[in-house]
Amino acid sequence: MQSEQTRQDKCCGGLLAPDAQQALATLRLGIPRQVLCGPQLFAVCALDLDSGQERFYQRFYINTDRLEFDRYLLSLVPSSVDYREGIRCREIAREAAGFRLRLSSVDGKRAWNERARIVIGCDGAGSVVRRTLFSSVPRPRSYTAVQEWFETKSESSPYYGAIFSQQTTDFYGWTIPKERQLIIGAALTPGDRVMERFRSLVDRLRARGLRLGRMVRRHAAPVLRPGSLREICLGGDGAALVGEAAGFISPSSAEGVSFALLSARALAQAMTAGERGWLERYRVLTLTLRLKIVLKGLKAPVIYHPLLRSLIMRSGLSSLPISE
Ligand SMILES: Cc1cc2nc3c(=O)[nH]c(=O)nc-3n(C[C@H](O)[C@H](O)[C@H](O)COP(=O)(O)OP(=O)(O)OC[C@H]3O[C@@H](n4cnc5c(N)ncnc54)[C@H](O)[C@@H]3O)c2cc1C
Repeated sequence: MQSEQTRQDKCCGGLLAPDAQQALATLRLGIPRQVLCGPQLFAVCALDLDSGQERFYQRFYINTDRLEFDRYLLSLVPSSVDYREGIRCREIAREAAGFRLRLSSVDGKRAWNERARIVIGCDGAGSVVRRTLFSSVPRPRSYTAVQEWFETKSESSPYYGAIFSQQTTDFYGWTIPKERQLIIGAALTPGDRVMERFRSLVDRLRARGLRLGRMVRRHAAPVLRPGSLREICLGGDGAALVGEAAGFISPSSAEGVSFALLSARALAQAMTAGERGWLERYRVLTLTLRLKIVLKGLKAPVIYHPLLRSLIMRSGLSSLPISE
């Protein structure tokens, strides 16, 4: 385990939801033990800070160390792939026979150009490939996700907390136990006072009795929330997008791992069938992913409407009776 300061993991909750578990299964993958992070979670606790209601629902998540999960996926990359770490793509431009990429070391000390015939942007929510090559395609709404990791004295409650608060965001916040630490996170509506709203969320959780020790880590990243299929961009003219760069992420829960895995597989299948017509094949192979985004988008107005959510929570429908 690296020290808190040197850990280079992605800003992510590291939960593998049932959709991600299914995606791994279809890729013939399991999860090695070193990727797991305790406790494993069998319930979500929905906490509505506006109405003060709290309900537990049965859900099955695999709790992982996201850094270890990424390392595991990288270990599967075949040796025929020239994989390099610590490099940023700063600029990308179309040329007559493909693309010119301006690359640099992460610290910016070294910079050079590379040429490519085909470019695949799997560079996440802030994708430079999408921003540069597909700037005319409408982008999904971008939220600022902030996560703080706190030490906890005892083992934290073994559930995934989903927190709703109009004052914080029109999306949601979360708590995730990680061994002897607890993540508090939120996808905050961009705009003013992002950190102030986050701090106020943490303070209100503390005021409700959540016992937190020292804060050991904070990180932030954009997270996308697609609002329509027009915002999903698969690419074109020799450049493709996969995962969140394409806009593939659940608009109701921000679950993105299953979409990243399955869109990458779809593109691999589309491209290995031949260079001609890959975009059309990719479109067909991602039909179910796009349908899923529509279905999850239909769910969102119910979950995120304060009155409807309050009525559902008050009814106790499908909730678990939890012992004190
Ligand atoms: C706070 C937070 C919590 C989340 N929690 C969960 C969760 O618990 N479960 C879940 O399923 N999803 C979660 N998500 C969503 C999930 O993390 C993403 O949707 C998923 O990782 C997307 O995978 P991806 O491969 O498309 O992009 P990413 O995982 O973002 O990977 C993009 C990669 O590209 C690299 N990159 C970016 N720009 C450049 C550049 N210019 N040059 C070189 N490299 C570049 C990045 O360093 C990164 O390695 C969360 C997101 C956030 C922000």
